[in-house]
Amino acid sequence: MIATVRTAAALRAALAPWRREGLRIGFVPTMGALHRGHAALVEHALAACDRVVVSVFVNPTQFAPNEDFARYPRTEEADAALLDRVGAQVLYAPAVEEIYPPGDATRVTVAGLTEPMEGAIRPHFFTGVATVCARLFCHVQPDATFFGEKDYQQLLVVRRMARDLGLGVEVIGVPTVREPDGLALSSRNAYLSASERAAAPALHRVLQRVAAGLRDGASMATLAPEAMRALVHAGFTAPDYLDLREAETLAPLDRLDATPARLLVAARLGTTRLIDNIPVQRA
Ligand code: AMP
Repeated sequence: MIATVRTAAALRAALAPWRREGLRIGFVPTMGALHRGHAALVEHALAACDRVVVSVFVNPTQFAPNEDFARYPRTEEADAALLDRVGAQVLYAPAVEEIYPPGDATRVTVAGLTEPMEGAIRPHFFTGVATVCARLFCHVQPDATFFGEKDYQQLLVVRRMARDLGLGVEVIGVPTVREPDGLALSSRNAYLSASERAAAPALHRVLQRVAAGLRDGASMATLAPEAMRALVHAGFTAPDYLDLREAETLAPLDRLDATPARLLVAARLGTTRLIDNIPVQRA
């Protein structure tokens, strides 16, 4: 049975015997409303570690006032049941005051990687993410932590932060889990109406089509306008970005070269903002 703990002190007490035994502790941070994508992170963690802690915490500092913090889905009972089935040992579900104590005044800001794409559209976002991850890593003190490639820029930002602060936690990326029609699983998919859900796989289809064009030697300058039109035709608003970037540095690219690259997109369907990305390699 999974143990649910709500304070850093209770968490430390739960983990102490395992640490004494020298067991390797894996950690999967989430905002809950768990789905098969989160389950895949836990499965990777269980394969690489002896014990796995999962946090469910809807982090207020990564939402802007106009964003969906209040209506973000909260389904703790179902989350605990899913984690129990997958085999995680501990669910850490702290209250906001446990993570942000009264008088809280500390933020963690990562330069560079946070500036384009998600950071340009949501300026508050990565400081919120880096701050909550740094705090959760201090509470859990894991050996390794597992992040989805679905939020690719976030994965790189958290890895940079953990290295820069010398937290001694390995940040491991896990491939995106998708629906059979290609839509990346996301807690926010629950917001989609039936017709929006039917339109949503266009995001992944467009990425694949652009990737094929890039492999044929075409440039983003020639491929992007048609891809944007295809998204709008499918019912999306004009994308916030559709970028080809170096996979490690996120430096912009116009064409594929020998460097590993990533193709990333963000666009809205009605009021729901969806993001996706895929790796792209020269053929
Ligand atoms: P969230 O609860 O949306 O903040 O996500 C928690 C973690 O799950 C993050 O590391 C996400 O990248 C990861 N994640 C979300 N959706 C997926 C997915 N479809 N496949 C793999 N990982 C995912």
